[in-house]
Amino acid sequence: MSTLEIRDLQVSVKLPEGELKPILAGVDLTVKAGETHAIMGPNGSGKSTLAYSIAGHPKYEITGGSVTLDGVDVLELSVDERARAGLFLAMQYPVEVPGVSVANFLRTAKTAIDGEAPKLRTWAGELRGAMEKLQMDPAFAQRNVNEGFSGGEKKRHEIMQLELLKPKIAILDETDSGLDIDALRVVSEGVNRVRETGETGFLLITHYTRILRYIKPDFVHVFVGGKIVEEGGPELAERLEAEGYEKFLTRA
Ligand code: ADP
Ligand code: MG
Ligand code: MG
Repeated sequence: MSTLEIRDLQVSVKLPEGELKPILAGVDLTVKAGETHAIMGPNGSGKSTLAYSIAGHPKYEITGGSVTLDGVDVLELSVDERARAGLFLAMQYPVEVPGVSVANFLRTAKTAIDGEAPKLRTWAGELRGAMEKLQMDPAFAQRNVNEGFSGGEKKRHEIMQLELLKPKIAILDETDSGLDIDALRVVSEGVNRVRETGETGFLLITHYTRILRYIKPDFVHVFVGGKIVEEGGPELAERLEAEGYEKFLTRA
């Protein structure tokens, strides 16, 4: 069983002039395979910074603390190595990959992560199955990654990656933003399918409580001013829905 351990993580964003602006002020969090953790917080509280730091985005500088996956120092790994180690990040704003089809992209990612190409015969079926479950047109596989994708298509594509790549730890940054209710349901069902395998730990980052009606978190962490200011079970999400973030803002 895999465990992601974040200890006293401190991160600054690198500004264009080379200065560092501190964002994360000491984050402690442990996510185990089979667990779903919701990180909830207002805009600008540093949620995406946390996700990008774990994934290894060069814009962020780690100034203190540690991140380990099954005891391995994640912060020492390249972005590729992190993916191969089993970390997956679904970004808040997915990027276009011109000239690369969804089918090729997924096959390349699968090959990189497994260390060998998937068997052609079984792979085609797996790809088709993942697309059917997400109610996607088979023609989607031939389109270029994220080029002209609607918000819903971008998120479905990410859940497809999740289902096919089977990461140890999946970080979903505002996967719910911009989704209509049908897309939200399809995407949530996809997450829940992967969740049921018990082999993936989820870090579900969200501003709104809406997605948590479809994906019930085991743990909820309130994130304000670059750190966790309150923790609890699913009932904490209900409290936030009723009361908002206001009373937590003074704790940062
Ligand atoms: P969230 O995802 O919770 O909305 P972010 O992690 O995106 O928060 O941002 C946290 C803080 O870091 C915000 O105050 C934001 O303005 C600041 N920030 C993030 N990226 C940059 C950047 N490139 N330059 C300056 N400030 C940044
Ligand atoms: Mg934001
Ligand atoms: Mg964000």
